[in-house]
Amino acid sequence: MPEELCHFIGGKTVAGTSGRYGEMFNPTTGEVAARVPFASSAEVEAAVTDSAKAFPTWAATSPLVRARVMFRFKSLIEENMDELAMLISRQHGKVLSDARGSVQRGLEVVEFACGIPHLLKGEFSDNVSRGIDLYSLRQPLGVATGITPFNFPAMVPLWMLAIAVACGNTFVLKPSEKDPGCSLRLGELMVSAGAPPGVLNVITGDREAVDALLTDERIAAVSFVGSTPVARHVYATAAAHGKRVQAMAGAKNHMVVLPDADIDQVVDALMGAGYGSAGERCMAISVVVAVGESTAETLRERLARRVRDLRVGPPTDPKSEMGPLVTREHLDKVKGYVDLGVEEGADLVVDGRSLRPEGHESGFFMGGCLFDHVTPDMRIYREEIFGPVLCMVRATSFEEALDLVDRHQFGNGVAVFTRDGDAAREFTHRVQAGMVGVNVPIPVPLSFYTFGGWKQSAFGDANQHGMDGVRFFTRTKTVTSRWPTGIRAGAEFVMPTLK
Ligand code: NAD
Repeated sequence: MPEELCHFIGGKTVAGTSGRYGEMFNPTTGEVAARVPFASSAEVEAAVTDSAKAFPTWAATSPLVRARVMFRFKSLIEENMDELAMLISRQHGKVLSDARGSVQRGLEVVEFACGIPHLLKGEFSDNVSRGIDLYSLRQPLGVATGITPFNFPAMVPLWMLAIAVACGNTFVLKPSEKDPGCSLRLGELMVSAGAPPGVLNVITGDREAVDALLTDERIAAVSFVGSTPVARHVYATAAAHGKRVQAMAGAKNHMVVLPDADIDQVVDALMGAGYGSAGERCMAISVVVAVGESTAETLRERLARRVRDLRVGPPTDPKSEMGPLVTREHLDKVKGYVDLGVEEGADLVVDGRSLRPEGHESGFFMGGCLFDHVTPDMRIYREEIFGPVLCMVRATSFEEALDLVDRHQFGNGVAVFTRDGDAAREFTHRVQAGMVGVNVPIPVPLSFYTFGGWKQSAFGDANQHGMDGVRFFTRTKTVTSRWPTGIRAGAEFVMPTLK
């Protein structure tokens, strides 16, 4: 009998009462690992009530004390790193080293949040008029919520919750129902770190829970990361209900390879960026644009060999380079795209559809796939596949390659590989994407910069983490103050101006 997960509300585990459940799988074996309670709107309401109750005290807590909670939270994540990484490998299927790296990237946002007393400092202008000082404060918003995807079960929740909580908000996290284990554990660790119960509540669920959060008038801000159709829905619904909203969405990241690039370096980069985490990364490279026929031919030949040799196996085996996909449903979807690419006339150079690691025949495994001669009209080029499928498009010039990237509906990350500084600089300045790598295949900005895409890859004005995170989870109050009160200005009927 699979275990039954619980919500984490008010500092303790709370069993689901809706009677609705989803199944969480072990993608390596294909077995059901746990039943995940799907919160009803009434259960969501109760979680929000708890967070709303915790807000005034937490908001009034000194930022230094909140920073100390963050320091302890950071230490607890470090102490529990192995457990968190193992949860990710078991529930998502990332190989352990990659799972650990993803927790580390989330941890870095907690480290950034440890500096919250400094980050929250306002502005002060002394004596802007006779006896008048002008200053601004950053104050928390209230209850914020985070709705997160399956592919980074620790990192993406940490992007949001660390900054939101450090800023003095309380937070209701609704992780992906496919692998909520890490989020539930982070809820416990936050309490162990000294945050009062209710500062971080975690509820598991599906659309019903999300819609209840988006429409609850006590929720002040919504931070979402997931697919583009859901991001659009979240953005429109939350905004219509008067909330601040940031919604990070899908991607189709291109790597442009210029003829002077070091092809061995490119092949190494493409193996990690295309097939790492089985391509289930919003910053994965899923399109390689080879500029010039000879670049394309060399790349095809060297890449095909490496993709065929990719070591696919259980994520806890240190020899595995790529684990299974998250669910059977997702595996079928990805394989369906490979079938579609063949029908559309793309050249399937490496076909990993039938790969099954020995002893794990029921797991959600497939091998790496490589398409060549993909054209911009094909659906395998236009749509996000989110699996270990790399599409090669051939371009005749730098301008044609740049134009391809710019015309694509998504604009999350992009990379250019070249030895030519002029070309790299020109590319960096003109390209229509939010995050650019120069000879760096996965340019995920560090926690003290911001993360966010352009076009259909993000909705809303604020990026994740960095100073955008602090701005998103606070609002500015500007105070104009006159001391001493003894200065008599007399009654004035015009707009106040400097005297
Ligand atoms: P998803 O959109 O299916 O789910 C994301 C969240 O939304 C989950 O918590 C889910 O429960 C909820 N949800 C799903 N359907 C919903 C609906 N109809 N109404 C309301 N809520 C709903 O995404 P996923 O499959 O979990 O994650 C993969 C996607 O996330 C990919 O498209 C990937 O590119 C994207 N992603 C983007 C970024 C980024 O920063 N741009 C980062 C990671 C993942």
